[in-house]
Amino acid sequence: MTAKVSKKTQPAETGALYRLHRPQTFTEVAGQDALIAALRQAVASGRAAHAYLFTGPRGTGKTSTARILAKALNCPKVKQGEPCGSCDVCRAIERGSFLDLIEIDAASNRGIDEIRELRGTVAIAPTGGRRKVYLVDEVHMLTKEAWGALLKTLEEPPAFVTFVLATTEPGKVPATIGSRCQRFDFRPATPQALTDRLRAVAKAEKLTAEPEALEIVARAARGSFRDALSMLDTLAATGPKISSDGAREALGIAGGGHLDALEDSLVKRDLAAALETVDVAAHAGVAADVFRIALVERLRGRLHALAAGREGDWVATDLVRALKLLLAAGEWAKDSPLPELPLELVLVEFIGASEPASRESADSSEPAAASKLAASEPAAAKAKTKPKPDTAKPASPPPKNAQELWEKLLTATKDRYSLSVCLQKTRPIGLGKGELALSVQSEFFLQKLDAQATRKAVEAELKELAGQELALKLELAAPSEDLVGDALKTFEGAEVQ
Ligand SMILES: [Zn+2]
Repeated sequence: MTAKVSKKTQPAETGALYRLHRPQTFTEVAGQDALIAALRQAVASGRAAHAYLFTGPRGTGKTSTARILAKALNCPKVKQGEPCGSCDVCRAIERGSFLDLIEIDAASNRGIDEIRELRGTVAIAPTGGRRKVYLVDEVHMLTKEAWGALLKTLEEPPAFVTFVLATTEPGKVPATIGSRCQRFDFRPATPQALTDRLRAVAKAEKLTAEPEALEIVARAARGSFRDALSMLDTLAATGPKISSDGAREALGIAGGGHLDALEDSLVKRDLAAALETVDVAAHAGVAADVFRIALVERLRGRLHALAAGREGDWVATDLVRALKLLLAAGEWAKDSPLPELPLELVLVEFIGASEPASRESADSSEPAAASKLAASEPAAAKAKTKPKPDTAKPASPPPKNAQELWEKLLTATKDRYSLSVCLQKTRPIGLGKGELALSVQSEFFLQKLDAQATRKAVEAELKELAGQELALKLELAAPSEDLVGDALKTFEGAEVQ
């Protein structure tokens, strides 16, 4: 079974164990008793709502519960609101092949096409089941246009349709939508619930684990079943037995060596080495967010040591700055098109190869790191970053030129931190023939923007803004003396401050 869990095609993705061991019945959903009881009761009494809003942190069971609800509403052998789990309907939903459960991921392309399509198909009766269930995940990511379309549907839903809107950010759901839904708030799992779940999964996977090892993982997972199982995944891949020492080491983390290497590059301000380490760790199967949490724990330990008067490689202000960035990156992770991007941005920002040009980064970026980078030439050279301060553009040009579209793109993505930071490293160079051409300031950001998930997110945004399909064309900006000069000025300025 160790072979099974370590077989990962996409190591950066959240663990296979989480997908393999999703709860399949209401009874199996852990830590949400009151909410689950209410849903079961509604199904049992035939009074299920037409629209639900499931809110709560990631990894707390929103999507799993929505799928179980779809089963309960369609299972011919449902008993007291609980689906049987073994009929054709239940099994089809488990396999993801039930035609009347339509899942829309608003994060992947902001739901534009799907919601448009939904309006056309929502009135068509279910094909195999009794009710059509639309599950819209990360619903807060929908565009304004998609919200409008969804609202029209929610205003007069066909009798055989149930909507489940799931979100980590209920504050971003328009009141007109929220008021039409019955809302359920999923709570972060308690360490006890997480430990129980880890124990059950370890048993099912025939993993040998010391009880304390599971408790360590449960504490580190901070309320998320997904994170807990992702860490168990990482641990299972390292050997046949999961010991508490192994868990501590892995969470301090992931073969220890990666974390040591990353800390070392942070201390030396070597950006290229730091990014390399993240890449190597990702390929070794360390989930990016687990790695980030491990780094938080490590640096927190360094801070405590300093406070206790023990000397080390760190100064307190740097530690505080790094920790602030790492914690903020936990928020960025939710909107990030690429799982490893938030951690990479922390490194870029901390080590200082990127200028603090954005509004978002201005608070957390202090000049100290940037000035140290000036002394660390190899890192600066490898990263090929030519910082250039953003300045406000003068009066607005005629509509639909590259500059205007690019500015709109920046505005539209400003709340999605990791995407926003990447786009701020670009300049518009042309618009035409179904494409927007951008020049990108460094190889690093070029690669990030060129990744399929990021490209998809940007192109979906462009379609919304320009009203037509636009492909993203990326070019690496030519090195220019002016830019180097600007960079030096930035660093000198930073030192003076
Ligand atoms: Zn069934």
